[in-house]
Amino acid sequence: MPARILDGNKIRDEILSELRTEIDALKKAGIVPGLAAVLVGENPASQIYVRSKVKTCESLGLFSEKITPAATSTTEEMLALVDQLNKRDDIDGILVQLPLPPQVDSKKVLEAVSPAKDVDGFHPVNIGYLVSGRPGLVPCTPAGVMEIIKRSGTPLKGARAVVVGRSDIVGKPTAMLMMHEHATITICHSRTRDLPGVAREGDILVAAIGKAAMVTGDFIKPGAVVIDVGQNVLKTAEEVKKIYHDPTEALKKLEAKGQVLIGDCQPEDAMEKAGAFTPVPGGVGPLTITMLMVNTVKAARERRGKTQ
Ligand code: NDP
Repeated sequence: MPARILDGNKIRDEILSELRTEIDALKKAGIVPGLAAVLVGENPASQIYVRSKVKTCESLGLFSEKITPAATSTTEEMLALVDQLNKRDDIDGILVQLPLPPQVDSKKVLEAVSPAKDVDGFHPVNIGYLVSGRPGLVPCTPAGVMEIIKRSGTPLKGARAVVVGRSDIVGKPTAMLMMHEHATITICHSRTRDLPGVAREGDILVAAIGKAAMVTGDFIKPGAVVIDVGQNVLKTAEEVKKIYHDPTEALKKLEAKGQVLIGDCQPEDAMEKAGAFTPVPGGVGPLTITMLMVNTVKAARERRGKTQ
């Protein structure tokens, strides 16, 4: 039987509808949650990300402000900007879109963001809260992975969960969150021995690697829940043919759009072996911005002293 599709768009809609109720309640109390999105320079991917974050804020009736310092900005100028945003009462969340230009000390800038407004969940204080299982602002993509797992009714208690990837923004926080829900976790990386064998132990397998279709059928325990965080782009017919067993549909997509988005899992293998699978696109992707909105509302509620 093919895997059950875990539909990220549907889960996004559910969460946004719940969030709208909460935003309405805050508005009745005179609070409009606000997000400042700081975009430095002209990186096209960053421009797209910031645009869709601002657009989502608007569609929810949140206040948002896009701030675009010059590409030549210094670390000191960025620190001064963050300081201003930290002090503004109408701004609940500060998002500094990465990457910053090379002359800017990104770590210093991210650490200057007030932990109470750190809606990306990257500040060491929030990372500390996450590790120790205390409430705080959680990084958006891992929070989205957890929503998919929970809302799809996937049991975590006592489950074996394997995360491939140990980045600070995806792999590590996802593993921590699953551990707090009583899963037994294994974190794999580029030096893991017998990666397919270790991955196959997972009742839940999370792939956050950044390598197109690396997770093939031999990584997947039959019936496992497979969460594919990867977002990779294929641009040529050769790449498509190399990856897909039946490339017909993907080649049509390539023809129509000039590229094919693919995750870290080989999708045909995952559909055949997994019990449930998040497609790419339409799986984890839609949850990342959604959880940024959730974090902004949460930051507003907590900083301005209103409980749900
Ligand atoms: P990073 O490059 O920061 O981390 C990748 C991790 O994968 C590293 O821990 C690395 O190991 C591991 N890895 C790389 N190659 C191998 C290999 N051959 N075998 C085993 N492990 C390997 O990536 P991110 O965590 O930032 O992102 C991961 C993926 O998720 C990317 O495709 C990215 O585009 C996507 N992503 C998607 C988001 C979404 O909204 N859906 C949001 C954020 C990311 P090591 O540490 O040893 O180098």
